[in-house]
Amino acid sequence: MNIVVMDAHSVDHGDVSFDELTKSGICTFYERTPAHLVYERSKDVQIILTNKVVFDRATIYSLNHLSYIGVLATGYNNVDINAAIERGIVVTNVPAYSTQSVAQLVFGFILELNMKINHHNRMVHEGKWSVSKDFCFWDYPLGELDGKVLGIIGFGRIGQAVARIAQAFGMKIIAYRKPKTGIEKSSVEFMPLKEIFERSDIVTLHCPLTNETRGMVNKEILGLMKKEAFIINTSRGPVVNENDLALALNEETISGAGLDVLSTEPPDPKNPLLTAKNCIITPHIGWATTASRQRLIDTAVKNVKAFIAGTPLNVVTV
Ligand code: NAD
Repeated sequence: MNIVVMDAHSVDHGDVSFDELTKSGICTFYERTPAHLVYERSKDVQIILTNKVVFDRATIYSLNHLSYIGVLATGYNNVDINAAIERGIVVTNVPAYSTQSVAQLVFGFILELNMKINHHNRMVHEGKWSVSKDFCFWDYPLGELDGKVLGIIGFGRIGQAVARIAQAFGMKIIAYRKPKTGIEKSSVEFMPLKEIFERSDIVTLHCPLTNETRGMVNKEILGLMKKEAFIINTSRGPVVNENDLALALNEETISGAGLDVLSTEPPDPKNPLLTAKNCIITPHIGWATTASRQRLIDTAVKNVKAFIAGTPLNVVTV
């Protein structure tokens, strides 16, 4: 079997291993594959692994040897699934490998917004503490999480992992929407979306990007939030109307934001959130801890082995 990994660098920065994959066939690893090289690199191959390289209808129809595409991610919108089904190509994904890592980043944002660790570290290194008349120094309101209300939008895997951590901090959890199964006995209170925005000290977004959620966090709903409240988005950038959020931050109708995702990635340097007040932005790293990426690769390799054995796993072409 010829196996090609089209964009290995997106998951492998030298700290994870694809070694198991090399036992399954003759492997070629490309760090990145620009669109004009996709056909050339795939034309003689049976098994492709891709993170973000696009396999559209025309490409899928042009590849006569291809029988399998393993997506190195949960989302597989870079592959034309209908075309793959028509051609009998099996496409698989990797579900839920990064849940704990994303939940951890959410608390990174929450702790930073409440304690301003970065800011105070900078102040110390700029000498502010050394010249302080007191034993301690702070110049920013510090918030305690115990008793605060955390509003979780999208109570799936990550939303529930965030809730478990929040409970350990003594936070009160309210959420939208109640999942259809599995939450019978819970201290979480479910309520309508608007009420979540009105009542929360911190709102965190964990819903998928759909027609319903695109632009859901807009001027109107941000206007319901408390002036002291924070918003966290680690889901998908377009769930938030970025102009409306930047305005709310700059006019201080809310107190701060922590964002791991933006509407376009990498972002336009003119994105208004890059210069908005008290807006912490990380470059889509929620999924990217070493443990999480190794889990992603391990499952992707299991998927390849299962496909070769004739019992494919995590198939999305169904
Ligand atoms: P999940 O499918 O387990 O949970 C999503 C939940 O959202 C489900 O319970 C679903 O019913 C709910 N939902 C759907 N539409 C909704 C709506 N309109 N309002 C409220 N809830 C709604 O997914 P997950 O694994 O928890 O991941 C959540 C999102 O996090 C993903 O869709 C993805 O976009 C994002 N994500 C980001 C990173 C990162 O690196 N930042 C990594 C993994 C996932």
